Amino acid sequence: MIDLRRHNANFCSEHFTKFCRDQDSRTIEEFDMLSPGDRVLVAVSGGKDSLALWDLLIRLGYEADGLVIGLGIGEYSQSSTGYAQRFAEARGLNLEYVDMEQRYGFDIPTGARAAKRAPCSACGMSKRHVFDEVTMAGDYDVLVTGHNLDDEAAVLFGNVMHWQTEYLGRQWPVLEAGSGFPKKAKPLIRLGEREMAAYCIVSGIDYVVEECPMSKGNKHLGYKEVLNEMELRQPGAKADFYLGFLRRAASVWRAEAQTGRSELGRCASCGAPAGGEICAFCRLVERATGAEPVTLGPTRVRSS
Ligand code: SF4
Ligand code: ZN
Repeated sequence: MIDLRRHNANFCSEHFTKFCRDQDSRTIEEFDMLSPGDRVLVAVSGGKDSLALWDLLIRLGYEADGLVIGLGIGEYSQSSTGYAQRFAEARGLNLEYVDMEQRYGFDIPTGARAAKRAPCSACGMSKRHVFDEVTMAGDYDVLVTGHNLDDEAAVLFGNVMHWQTEYLGRQWPVLEAGSGFPKKAKPLIRLGEREMAAYCIVSGIDYVVEECPMSKGNKHLGYKEVLNEMELRQPGAKADFYLGFLRRAASVWRAEAQTGRSELGRCASCGAPAGGEICAFCRLVERATGAEPVTLGPTRVRSS
């Protein structure tokens, strides 16, 4: 039995997987994320969310390839890439692979230190660049990511706490193609972290459980802890917070975010959208090129 307190319901395995599929297809339809016949690219990390998303989309009948990035974060990257590869092989799915070191000449630990950026900031920026590049080069109609309800509620919490209104405008779960960006969507926004872990278990999906050794200090982990505490006291609080924002408040800032996007120029080096002459990713590549490589210690196992 799978107990979902926020829905005040218990599910057997079969009805739970149907519940997840229904939540996913309802989200895709409501936000006009995908159309029948679209070529979809799934950003895959080897973790539960992205593999569950890929599985759900295939079961819903979409043509979906995967993309995994070799971030070069020690054993963690090798292990997580392995889970993605085994998932794809077992189901006969196409998985694109981009190795940061081979393609751009640096790995994430080295790039973050050379650019004096927080690891998750350098990593997030690199991933966004690679996702956009591969989606457009491969002529995919849309890139989907496995951000779930917990992720989006935590990002919203941080954006509201610091009143980052441009980011609030960009928190809509689908961004249309334009101004040099591919279409992007987050079909898992109605499903939480525990639900995705349960989906993987009942569907026989093996996923990486080790924690990224560079995640320490990531402020979203702190926001998640606060929201989990709230959820324990008030089941459904996270969904009310995030889905209520989409229904009642997001439109206030969406125009501001769209204007910012359309005002971007093009990077003189790679052609991607850029605020200055050279995009932030190409500046990172410049700084990281030739930098002394960083060696990481062993990975930890997630405690929650
Ligand atoms: Fe990258 Fe940070 Fe995620 Fe590690 S925790 S994979 S550094 S974004
Ligand atoms: Zn560039």
